Amino acid sequence: MVLKLYDTLTRKVQDVSPMDGESVRFYACGPTVYGPAHIGNFRTFVMQDVFRRVMETSGIKTFHVRNLTDVDDKTIRRSQEEGIRLQDFTAIWTARFQNDCELLNLMIPHKEPSAVRHIPEQIGLIERLIEKDKAYQTKDGSVYFRVEAFAEYGRLSRLADREITTSETFRESSDEYDRDSAADFALWKARKIEDGENFWDSPWGQGRPGWHIECSAMSMKYLGESFDLHSGGVDLIFPHHENEIAQSESVTGKTFAHHWFHIAHLMVEGQKMSKSLGNLYTLSDLADRGYQPQEIRYLLLSGNFRQPLNFTFDSLGAAQKAISKLTDFASKFEFEYAACSPLKCKFGPFYAVQEALLEDLNTPEALGRLFRLVRELTDAWNRGEFKGQRSKIISVHEGFQSCLDAFGLIVQVKKEEPIEVPSDIQELAQKRWQAKVEKNWAVADQLRDELLKQGWLIKDGKQAFELCKSD
Ligand code: AMP
Ligand code: ZN
Repeated sequence: MVLKLYDTLTRKVQDVSPMDGESVRFYACGPTVYGPAHIGNFRTFVMQDVFRRVMETSGIKTFHVRNLTDVDDKTIRRSQEEGIRLQDFTAIWTARFQNDCELLNLMIPHKEPSAVRHIPEQIGLIERLIEKDKAYQTKDGSVYFRVEAFAEYGRLSRLADREITTSETFRESSDEYDRDSAADFALWKARKIEDGENFWDSPWGQGRPGWHIECSAMSMKYLGESFDLHSGGVDLIFPHHENEIAQSESVTGKTFAHHWFHIAHLMVEGQKMSKSLGNLYTLSDLADRGYQPQEIRYLLLSGNFRQPLNFTFDSLGAAQKAISKLTDFASKFEFEYAACSPLKCKFGPFYAVQEALLEDLNTPEALGRLFRLVRELTDAWNRGEFKGQRSKIISVHEGFQSCLDAFGLIVQVKKEEPIEVPSDIQELAQKRWQAKVEKNWAVADQLRDELLKQGWLIKDGKQAFELCKSD
């Protein structure tokens, strides 16, 4: 079965199959490395990761490129504020980003190119655009793309009904740059005093590339002039992706990307989670509050990528419970499975979960189906239906693992047998929890000490506690 996915350009759900019959080549706009990525950014990166995993678990190879935006107004400004060289500054945030990706179990892209290390490729593209008269140089030594020279401009974002001549065209506050038409966007920005030491030589004098050209240069370098899919958050549809199409197709005359995959935003109280609004949470903010990366990943998968997802601590609490249920289920079968010899069987009874993923990456539906199966199979387990049933155990275990792989979820299987807690200890712990809920701290502390004296330690979660031996 082939993945069907909504395409922003055609507004249709379309099959994604490799153009070259071998591997799906795709490009994801990467992070701007001037601070920690927030979990809104990670909604986009996690969905791209699930896209890749679903392709791969259905037997199709991928080639995944995700860039690092390491030169723009923000990276330059912040590095100057910190008094660190741009490349040293962005290296710090790149390392942090990669570490967060690992925590979230994101697959490493096959290529992770940096914009700063691809200046010659960007200059090369700009030269070709000038040769074809699709771009022009201004007096100050900047170069602009001539939007009216690309008849298709605005197809992706349906600009036809809108006024193109808007300063929205610029992501950065670069309106001081001189240009023929307000819709034209910068390919090369002439050196300015405030850029400090961050400039490069070019045929138009010293300066630095614009943001949009970096993605065209790096995607075409690693994926070819035409490739399968391009992705980012919905905020990138206009102007970034619109501009990428215009400049790339003006150079090559070929379709740039065959499929456009955009992920709706993670919101906080009705507003986009963003660095500029300051309403963001990072993985480390949430770790400080006791939430694990896998729980965050689960939360990010719980909404359909075409709809905005509202972030709340209640939904994070629900994600925490969901992961704990999956852990219990995995532990049950892992224990029996270890005694069986492996038999590769993809999805097995979990096929319905994969089907939901293949149908427009419907992660909430797929998770719903996963939990329905987990419930049914747990009931069957409790009725003793798996006793001595080797092949049934293998097929459930492997099917379940394939689902986890497709979602990219890792559950830590409990190795030890559950500890038997004596009923008087359980009762004391329950009383102490009640006292805590009622904010009766003195009683809660006294009961905690009492339990400790008897050799039991309480670990508090948000909604429940766990007891373990104190030694
Ligand atoms: P940036 O670091 O701002 O360049 O963004 C990196 C990626 O995160 C881009 O694909 C953005 O579209 C995406 N993004 C930014 N904010 C959000 C959000 N609140 N929800 C989902 N994706 C986002
Ligand atoms: Zn980009």
